[in-house]
Amino acid sequence: MTRDGQIRLDDYRAVVPTATLDLLRRLAERIRGRSLVHVNSTRVGGGVAEMLHRYVPLFTELGIATRWEVISGAEEFFRVTKSFHNALQGQEQAFTNAMFQSYLETNKENAGRLNLDADVVLVHDPQPAALIAHARPASDGKRRGRWVWRCHIDVSRPQRRAWTFLRQFVTQYDGAIFSLPKFAQRLPVPQYLIYPSIDPLSEKNRDLTPDEVAAVLQRLSVPQDKPILLQVSRFDRFKDPLGVINAYRLVKKHDDCRLVLAGGSADDDPEGAQVLAEVMDAGCHDPDIHVLVLPPTAHHEINALQRAAAIIVQKSTREGFGLTVAEGMWKGKPVIGGFAGGITVQIIWGVTGYTVNSVEGCAFRIRYLLHNPDVATQMGRNARESVREQFLITRDLAEHLALMVTLLR
Ligand code: UDP
Repeated sequence: MTRDGQIRLDDYRAVVPTATLDLLRRLAERIRGRSLVHVNSTRVGGGVAEMLHRYVPLFTELGIATRWEVISGAEEFFRVTKSFHNALQGQEQAFTNAMFQSYLETNKENAGRLNLDADVVLVHDPQPAALIAHARPASDGKRRGRWVWRCHIDVSRPQRRAWTFLRQFVTQYDGAIFSLPKFAQRLPVPQYLIYPSIDPLSEKNRDLTPDEVAAVLQRLSVPQDKPILLQVSRFDRFKDPLGVINAYRLVKKHDDCRLVLAGGSADDDPEGAQVLAEVMDAGCHDPDIHVLVLPPTAHHEINALQRAAAIIVQKSTREGFGLTVAEGMWKGKPVIGGFAGGITVQIIWGVTGYTVNSVEGCAFRIRYLLHNPDVATQMGRNARESVREQFLITRDLAEHLALMVTLLR
């Protein structure tokens, strides 16, 4: 770590084998001096922003000139893109031509404003996907950089109309990255599979002492007198916070525990306030339900909550990947997750936690782990090792570097 507290690659020796770091440096050697720009739609809130904050300094240290651009738009634009998001994750949505128009115009405006000049342009998710239509050609008429679309959402069963609209842009890219094989689409461009990752040294995931954990819990007014069930999520229907409350209620009939639902909003998610109001309403009569609305900078608080929890829940019904699952597993906790998207590749059933398909199933597994603390402890240990092998940022960086080497060959 540098004197200003910045994390350096060498610091990762504490968590991954030296060979992993050597591989990163060797791959980076092949593309040193090249440039990369990431483009997404928010600097705070959600897993993509979480990862971009960590990618940028690490790519830079590896000798790749890396920038991060964020598209902006009016409220209407984000309402439309949230509808896209919902439709692409399989929810029925109605679209009008005016909605498509608003999406296209905002992308066009942003294309004129953002600096997208780089050897590799990595565009994250549907919001900025249409920027490619305005990529400025070089003097020979070709696009200068190689453009790749990175899809972070669960597109296993997209609503046709939304996907057909988006697909016209995706097909213009030099490739597309998906988080799971089952999200792959019929596309005429190369498709790559890269699992997202967490940074073990970030404020969200670094080790904390029991005293540090206790201090945060006290500050948040969450007593540690009984087992804590925790779900950390944006207040989004696909994360099923009401389902979590219902599962907790079934558990609570027999076993004493607390439920903490910690979340915040994302700049590009206008539906959050409504879902939060429903959650508040459902939980307000039970003093053992703690709904915590945290600012986007509350990494230390979330870290402490995850460490204080007995069981981590992520009862999503659709999920691109679910970084919160890896975060909980890294803290040595068993995780009970909805059988959705990336949760299914992270949780090894019966080894690191359980995937469930219903409120009842979720409650049943919570009760089982509360009654079998030794099993829960062993699952937590397995979970941490599983994350170390598969879901740390060092593996993710290596795969991105390998992709860049291929693209720029
Ligand atoms: N997160 C946060 N504050 C919140 C809610 C979530 O910092 O109030 C973080 C969470 O710890 C995780 C990311 O945001 O790192 C959410 O990523 P995930 O893949 O679980 O879900 P997404 O929001 O991208 O659908």
